[in-house]
Amino acid sequence: MLKKGCLKKTLKALTLSKLAILTNIHFAYSFTHQATFEHGRNGFLPDNNLQFPADDKSSGLDQKSAEKIILSIQKEFKSDIEKRGGVLKMNLVWQDPSVNALASRNLENPKLYEVKILGGLARHPMMTSDTLALIACHELGHHIGGSPTKKAGASMMSVEGQADYFAGLRCLKRVFALEDNRDVLKKFPREIEAKAALEKCSLVYGNENELNVCLRIARASLEVGRLFQSLSKKGTRVSLLTRDTNVVDKIFEGHPAAQCRVDTLMSGALCDKDLLDQTSNKDENLGVCSQKNGDQIGLRPSCWFVPAA
Ligand SMILES: [Zn+2]
Repeated sequence: MLKKGCLKKTLKALTLSKLAILTNIHFAYSFTHQATFEHGRNGFLPDNNLQFPADDKSSGLDQKSAEKIILSIQKEFKSDIEKRGGVLKMNLVWQDPSVNALASRNLENPKLYEVKILGGLARHPMMTSDTLALIACHELGHHIGGSPTKKAGASMMSVEGQADYFAGLRCLKRVFALEDNRDVLKKFPREIEAKAALEKCSLVYGNENELNVCLRIARASLEVGRLFQSLSKKGTRVSLLTRDTNVVDKIFEGHPAAQCRVDTLMSGALCDKDLLDQTSNKDENLGVCSQKNGDQIGLRPSCWFVPAA
């Protein structure tokens, strides 16, 4: 329910050769005499060489709109990070033309939880306010999305699927709950998708605003799924009418396929836990929906997740 208002592990020093290998598996580590986890460049989105320079004003979001979205998320989650003894710093790097986003922790200053949204991402023609919010929420999810976390190196950061799950489960709900969510159904890309979203969200939410927030997350999930597909140029069209039927035998830490990501975001949206619940890096069942918690809806999908034995 929307209850808003009632609502390191030390990284070993890596040699340059190891650095090159890691970059190829979609982590970018930058080292001087420190270790930084950076999720980006090859990070949130499929590999792409797209560039939208700051003087390209033809499409996407303008700077003011993008900053407003990022600031609203920072404001909402500032205290969550403070409770962990940290400081949240979310920035829009407007001049950067790359189409991506980053989450980073510097081991020399581990209290600083950083998220960077690069200007080229905000200027992408397919970008909307809600998809940018979803991507910023995914980056925040790497910091506070909880278990499962990355096994290789950056063990303080949630894996890709978990960061997506956190975006739908908690971050977007808390941010959207503060806004006007009426008429969300009218703005769906296709009526058939709107019906599918309504069917799913109605199973869980009776309250009008909660229902509309769920629908809004569904719409943003579809939009971002289509952005993944347009960049990766593969896979069938994502939809709320289908699901990724792949079953992994161990947790997949990388970026799941576009449909799997949409399924994960929707599972988060359909998990009706208190929005002020916190997740844990040590307990994959805390603050989430899981079989162990006796939940049947809102579980992390088996296209990337395997419950701990
Ligand atoms: Zn990520």
